[in-house]
Amino acid sequence: MSFDTLTGAHFRLALTPEGWRRNLSVTFGPDGLITGLREDDNPDRLPVYENPVVPGITDLHSHAFQYAMAGLSEVRRNPVDSFWSWRDIMYFFALTLSPEDMQAIAARLYLALLKGGYTGIVEFHYVHNDLDGTPYARREELSLAIFEAARATGLDLTHLPVFYAHSNFGGLAPTEGQRRFIQDLDGYAAMLEALRAPAREAGHTLGIAPHSLRAATPEEITRLMELRADLLPDCPVHIHVAEQVKEVEDALAWNGRRPVEQLFDIAPVDRRWCLIHATHLSDDEVARIARSGATVGLCPMTEANLGDGIFRATDYLAQGGSFGIGSDSNITTFAAQELQQLEYSQRLRDRQRNVLASDAFPNVAANLWTRAMQGGARAAGRPEQGLAPGGMASFVELVSPEPEALAAVAPEAALDFHVFAGRGFHVGDVVVRGRRTVQAGHHPLEDRIHADYAAAMARISERLAARDADGRMGG
Ligand SMILES: [Zn+2]
Repeated sequence: MSFDTLTGAHFRLALTPEGWRRNLSVTFGPDGLITGLREDDNPDRLPVYENPVVPGITDLHSHAFQYAMAGLSEVRRNPVDSFWSWRDIMYFFALTLSPEDMQAIAARLYLALLKGGYTGIVEFHYVHNDLDGTPYARREELSLAIFEAARATGLDLTHLPVFYAHSNFGGLAPTEGQRRFIQDLDGYAAMLEALRAPAREAGHTLGIAPHSLRAATPEEITRLMELRADLLPDCPVHIHVAEQVKEVEDALAWNGRRPVEQLFDIAPVDRRWCLIHATHLSDDEVARIARSGATVGLCPMTEANLGDGIFRATDYLAQGGSFGIGSDSNITTFAAQELQQLEYSQRLRDRQRNVLASDAFPNVAANLWTRAMQGGARAAGRPEQGLAPGGMASFVELVSPEPEALAAVAPEAALDFHVFAGRGFHVGDVVVRGRRTVQAGHHPLEDRIHADYAAAMARISERLAARDADGRMGG
């Protein structure tokens, strides 16, 4: 599939790192980066965007297969349901998928993400093995399914094969339900090596991801850093950390240190790192992460859905901390909804309004969008300039379904409406590194992607029904 390639565009109104600007002619290089940007009346007759344009956001944390289980875990099955009972259902679901299913689900998700304001994805990929827990003949089989989904949709992929070896702190043995995730260091190294050439050919970025301090020991994380220096120097490193109170308690019980403290004890955390969730932080941990230049990967809708807790966003942003947003379990695919939930979590806790604005961006939506774009790009190992020279030619055209609502206010309020009014803003065009993946709301392959997804879901439903009859669902 090849998409239209644009060599430039003229924006009537665009969100740049300096705020909203009008009448911008922007030129793109063959590498999909912005080569020039100036205010003029479009003397070169570049294609004109009359609607407001915003930079595309990189979704910095996704487990693609979970898109297909959205809605399956909203029934109370235990006296107190929690992250941990949700995880049992997720494991059960993960144990049914074929490579073909994985590819169909990921493509359907990536299509939805493109239409949800995202132009890049960081896939935190931990389902590696065949159904019985043995590696596929090609170890990287399921990663290649993700590659294919990114190629078909045009979403910019940073792929993180996940190292997963244990069930809890102290190197506890994995459980039977984790058998598709488990690898040793040699197997992991072989997978990374096998993925380097296909990733390079397709223009994907590869990174490294110890799943969590529960699933990788300090010694293993040290070895992973050595492997990184050998195979993928300076690549992004992501890890789940401090998502759940129980995780903090388990960490303290194991060696008396909180999860983020443990991470800083053992790893050279810097701006190449992304700490996913980081929900439960001490004052000192907030300051250390902000100072390190690492990005915190917030997944506000999933964190709300799972009852994780509320991230200390006001404190963290006040200290200049970098953050981005991830769709994680993919219960929603709209960047706007993640940002709305992030702001609302702080409003509900602090009983204030317009909490996550800044002096430079008094509009909450523009501030959150800009910072999430920058943090997402940093976490993906991509240029983080946004709509400015050197930045990615990746942008989203916002089309209001209700243009009369904006007539009375400034056009700059389009993004405020998009994030907070919740009336279903559409996207028009979505351009990823100069390639028009979505045109006037339509993707050229969407019929096929929908059909493949429907076929995959029919197969999965059959398998789930058979297994549910065995009485193992939610066990
Ligand atoms: Zn996750």
